[in-house]
Amino acid sequence: MATLKENHELRAIFVPFLSTSHIIPLVDMARLFAMHGVDVTILTTSHNAKIFQKSIDLDFHRGRPIRTHPLKFPASDVGLPAGVEAINVDTPKDMIPKIYMGLAILQPEIENLFNQLNADFIVTDLFYPWTADAAAKLGIPRIMFHGASYLARSALHSVQHYQPHLKVESDSEKFVLPGLPHQLEMTPLQIPAWVRSPNDYTELMKTIMESEKRSYGSVFNSFYELEGDYYVHYKKVMGTKSWGLGPVSLWANHDASDKAARGQTKPESKEEGWLKWLNTKPENSVLYVSFGSMNKFPQSQLVEIAHALEGSGHDFIWVVRKNEEEGGGGGGGGGFLEEFEKRVRESGKGYLIWGWAPQLLILENTAIGGLVTHCGWNTVVESVNAGLPMATWPLFAEHFFNEKLVVDVLRIGVPVGAQEWRNWNEFGSEVVSREDIGNAIACLMDGGEEDAEMRRRAKKLSVEAKKAIEKLTLVPIPMDTKLKVIFLPFASTSHIIPIVDIARVLAMHGV
Ligand code: UDP
Repeated sequence: MATLKENHELRAIFVPFLSTSHIIPLVDMARLFAMHGVDVTILTTSHNAKIFQKSIDLDFHRGRPIRTHPLKFPASDVGLPAGVEAINVDTPKDMIPKIYMGLAILQPEIENLFNQLNADFIVTDLFYPWTADAAAKLGIPRIMFHGASYLARSALHSVQHYQPHLKVESDSEKFVLPGLPHQLEMTPLQIPAWVRSPNDYTELMKTIMESEKRSYGSVFNSFYELEGDYYVHYKKVMGTKSWGLGPVSLWANHDASDKAARGQTKPESKEEGWLKWLNTKPENSVLYVSFGSMNKFPQSQLVEIAHALEGSGHDFIWVVRKNEEEGGGGGGGGGFLEEFEKRVRESGKGYLIWGWAPQLLILENTAIGGLVTHCGWNTVVESVNAGLPMATWPLFAEHFFNEKLVVDVLRIGVPVGAQEWRNWNEFGSEVVSREDIGNAIACLMDGGEEDAEMRRRAKKLSVEAKKAIEKLTLVPIPMDTKLKVIFLPFASTSHIIPIVDIARVLAMHGV
C-alpha cells in the first residue's frame, strides 16, 4: 500500500456507473471530498457528464479542486447510435448489453487514467468490481460506492445467507428476515427475483460482493441516526470497513443554484410554474408524488394514481413520465392524462411535471406535506432531510427493503400495499388500486393522530440529518494547516464504533 507524504494533496478519482440515479449521489460525494480539500477527478462519458457538469462548474468557480475527465463512449464499436451511453428509463432493452460492452472497451483506458492521473485512491460504483484489482495493482485503496441503504444490504445478506423464503409454503406467506436487529417481515414475492431464481445478475452480484471484500472499504449515502443498527450490523456480517457519508445531497447542495442544477440537463426556465403554484399553497398541504428516475408506469396504473389523487381532496405535484410505447400522447392512453392535467390545473388542485423535476427544491418548499415514493434510497434520504413522512410504494431494486426501514423501523411512512417486486424496466401483473393509494394518502395527509406522530418523528430525523453534516461544513479547513483533533467517544460500544470510524476517515484525509 502506498504511504502518503507529509503535505501531499490527496488525489482521488471517482467513477460513477452510467445511470442517472447512480451518478447523482456519487457526484455529490465526489463534490464533498473536493469541499474538504481532496483533488477530485470524475471519470465518465461525455453524454453522462452533461447530467452533472453544471454542478462541477459551480464548484470549480468556488475554487474547489474538482473536474470531469470526459471519456469517449465507443458507440459505433458496439453498434449503438451516438449518444446512447446510459442505462436509464428510456434506454431500449436490447441496447443495454451493448452499453455494458462499451464499458468493457473503456476499461483499459480507465485503468490507465488511474495511473496517469496519479490517484492516491479511487471511489468507484459497485458495478465496477474490476476496479478492486486495478487498485490492487497500483497499490492504492479502492473504496466501493453502494447506492443502497445499510438496511437493504443487511437484509439482502440475510436472505442470501439464511434463505428464509424457501421455508414458507407460498409466495405470499410472510417470513421474518433472520439475524437482523429488528423483526422485519416480508414475503417471497417482495424479494428480488434474481435472489429467488438465480440468473446472470445473481452471478454479477456475487462478483460485486467479492470485490467489496477485496476493497479498502465502502461508502454509503447514509448517517448513523438514520440506520445506525444496520450500519453496525452490515460491517459485522461483511467483515469490511464502511462509512456513511450522508446525507450527501444536503452536504453538497447548499445553494438554490446547486439544487436546481442537480441532475438537470435542460436549461433552467426563468418562470418556474410549479414554484409559483406551490408558493400559493399553505404549509404542509401539498403531496409530492414521484417514482424516481427509472420508472414508467403503464396506462392502467397511471389512471389509478390520477383517480386516487383527485379523490384525495389534497393538492399535489405529480412527476409523470411519458410512456411512448403505449402511444396516445403524453403519458399514453389517448390523452387521459392531458385531460386530467387540464382539469386539475383549472381547479388549482394539482400540478403535473413531465419527465424531470427539481426534486431537492420542491421537497424543501414548506408547502410540501408528504410524499408518495417508490422508496428509491436517494429519495428516502432526501425526504428525511426535509422532515417529510412518506406513502411507500416499492417497485424494484432494493425498494422493498427500504420500505421496511421507513415503515417498520423509523415509523415515518405508511405503505400503499405493494406486493410484488419487479425488474426496473418491466411491469408485473400488479396494479395498485385507487382505493389503496387513497387510503395511504389519507393516513399521511388527513391530520389524524397517526399522521401527527409520523410527522413528529420525520421532523426529528430531519434535525439529526442536519446535525450529521453540521460540524465539518462549518469549519473552513485551511489547506496548508495540519488540523489536530481529539475524539472522545462515550463509553459504550455502539457509540465507540462509529466515532472511531469517523476519526479514521479524518486521519485518512490528513487530519
Ligand atoms: N430526481 C430528481 N428529479 C426527478 C427524478 C429524480 O431530481 O424527476 C433525483 C432525486 O432527487 C434522487 C434521484 O434522482 O436524488 C433518484 O434516486 P432514487 O434512489 O430516489 O431513485 P431511482 O431513480 O434510483 O429509482
